[in-house]
Order: sequence, then C-alpha cells, then structure tokens
Amino acid sequence: MTTNLLEFDLDALIAFCERLGEKRFRATQLFRWIHQRGAKDFGAMSDLAKSLREKLQGCARIEALPVISEHVSADGTIKWLFDVGDGNAVESVFIPEDDRGTLCVSSQAGCAVGCRFCSTGHQGFSRNLTSGEIIAQLWFAEHALRTRLQTSERVISNVVMMGMGEPLQNYAALVPALRIMLDDHGYGLSRRRLTVSTSGVVPMMDRLAQDCPVALAVSLHAPNDALRDNLVPLNRKYPIHELLDACNRYLEHAPRDFITFEYCMLDGVNDQPEHAQQLIDLVQPTRGPGIRCKFNLIPFNPFPASGLLRSPQHRVLAFAKLLNDAGIVTTVRKTRGDDIDAACGQLAGDVKDRTRAAERMAKQRTIVLKPIT
Ligand code: SF4
Repeated sequence: MTTNLLEFDLDALIAFCERLGEKRFRATQLFRWIHQRGAKDFGAMSDLAKSLREKLQGCARIEALPVISEHVSADGTIKWLFDVGDGNAVESVFIPEDDRGTLCVSSQAGCAVGCRFCSTGHQGFSRNLTSGEIIAQLWFAEHALRTRLQTSERVISNVVMMGMGEPLQNYAALVPALRIMLDDHGYGLSRRRLTVSTSGVVPMMDRLAQDCPVALAVSLHAPNDALRDNLVPLNRKYPIHELLDACNRYLEHAPRDFITFEYCMLDGVNDQPEHAQQLIDLVQPTRGPGIRCKFNLIPFNPFPASGLLRSPQHRVLAFAKLLNDAGIVTTVRKTRGDDIDAACGQLAGDVKDRTRAAERMAKQRTIVLKPIT
C-alpha cells in the first residue's frame, strides 16, 4: 500500500523524504507541488530529480476525495459532497465575497456532540476524518476554483473549521491539517484568517492555544447553563463559566484580540430580551474581568427533525441592538446558499451513525425546550 502524501504536514513530509534518503529541500519542493500547484502526478514535477520521482511512484500517492456532487447557489456559494468511504460523505462549502473567499471545512463524518439545532448533530457520528481527508477538501476546492476562474492566484483566503463535526474532538488530525493551511509552502493562510469553531471542548482549547493558536469561534447559543445543557449537550461537561475561563486563557495566545461567539437564533427559545441581558451580564460582569468578544447571530435554518423555528427578523435585529447598545460588537450573519442547503447548520452529508445519537436525540425531543409564548 502506498502512502497518501496529503496526510503529511511539512515536518512529516521531510521525515518521509529522509527515510527515502532525500534531502529536506526536496520535501519542500514536493510540498509546494502538492499544495501550491495542485499536482497529483509525480511525473509532472519537473524540478524533482528523475530518481526521486521514480521512488515516489513506487511508494506514495496524492489521493483526493471522490466528489459525489456539486451544487452552485444563485448567490455563488458552492457546496461539494465528498465520499469518505464506508457509506459516509462529508460536505464543504465555498462562500465568495467581494474581499475574500471562504471555505467551510468538515472535520468528522457526523458529530457526537448532538446540538439540537444542527443537522449534522441529528445525523449521529461515524468517525473522525484523517488529516489528509481534512486537507483534501481545501486542496480540491482551491485548485478546482483556480481552474474554473482561470487564475493562478489564490482563491481561498479564509478557512473556517465549521463544517460537519466538532474539530476539537478530532484534535490529532486537526492540528497537522491546520499547519498545512498555515505553511508558507502550503496555503499560506494567516492565523487570523483560519478559524476553528468549537462547541466548548475546554481541555482541547487549552492545547490548541499552545500548539497552533488560530482564530477561535465558540458556539455559545444560550446565556445560561439550564438552556445550554439542552441546546449544546457538551455544556453538561464543560459549563459556561469553565468555557469562558478557557476563552480568556485562549485570548492570551490568540492571533485576534477577541473570541467570536456564535449564537443561533431560535424562535421563542433563546431570542428574548432577557436572554440578551443575561449574555451582557455574562461577558460584562459587574465584578471580574469579563471577556473581549464579538457576537455573530445566526438565523436558524429549520429542518423538521429539530422541532425548532427561526426567530423572526425583527426579533433578531432587536436582540442585536441590545447587545450593540451595551458595547458588544454584534453582527447578524447573512444566510448564504439557502437554496442548496449549504447554510450554517444545514450540512448533513451522509453518515452511517455508529453511536445511535440520532435515536437518542429523537427521544430527547419530547422532553425539552418548551417555547416561550
Ligand atoms: S453544531 Fe457543531 S458541535 Fe454541535 S452537533 Fe453540529 S457539528 Fe456538532
């Protein structure tokens, strides 16, 4: 069996080349061919010695993920469904904007966290992706877009680890993939333009701060533990005060001087003025340091199994105004790719649920979240 070189960050590729008796700079050349030029064929890597190309052909490969489908939205958003084997598929979404191109990348086939408002969570969990499967999404998207736009310039300027899965529950594969994204010989993204989103895996937030500090987004979605226990079940393990302490520790290492809190607006559940006030009290306590943060309010994308509805726009705007008036920078996320089910929380892919999470969530639905009337 040959080795898929998409699995390797530059250090690992150097070690691999050294085992083949090659110098370090050869690994850097090879890395640039793979990630900067999108090459798959060793024979085309014209500045590598013929002897190295022959060695690589015998023991290595550059294997992308098969694309099952591609959907292009009227607003230019593109969603790809990739086959990751054993009946599982994951999704990536490209969101073009005037000043940037953002790719939303998946880290797991399914997700074990099981947030109430998330299609992925309702699918259950199958397995972690490997580093190569994470980076293959960016590798494919970047080079497919360059070909489509007939450019040799970089198209994807930002990556958000906000697709399917909880990235910090797949830490060992995540970090090498992040390093490839950041590497100047790879995709050359700045740490500020690479965002990991977490539902609050506190010990791994501390590790990420040490190992690979990039921008951090935290899926908060509720202003108190009682509500968050229901919406984001991981809260029972790492309640809000522990999460906020971890955010403050992270900020000591982060490339940005604030944490982004994601807050999905659910009709009658977490969108009332008292919830906004509780959030203000949480991040700007009368005692204690508080936390430097921004809020991103996300219009919920309803799906039948959730039993939840989108907050009306006037309530979202009123909620945003309360936070902004308190001095907390708050934006309302534009929904993109609605027509192709690519909007936030809609990524469902195709997951062989090995945890029976979907079954458990269906049972939970009957006992939680009575909307406020
Ligand atoms: S919101 Fe994120 S952590 Fe929660 S179930 Fe969905 S993918 Fe998992």
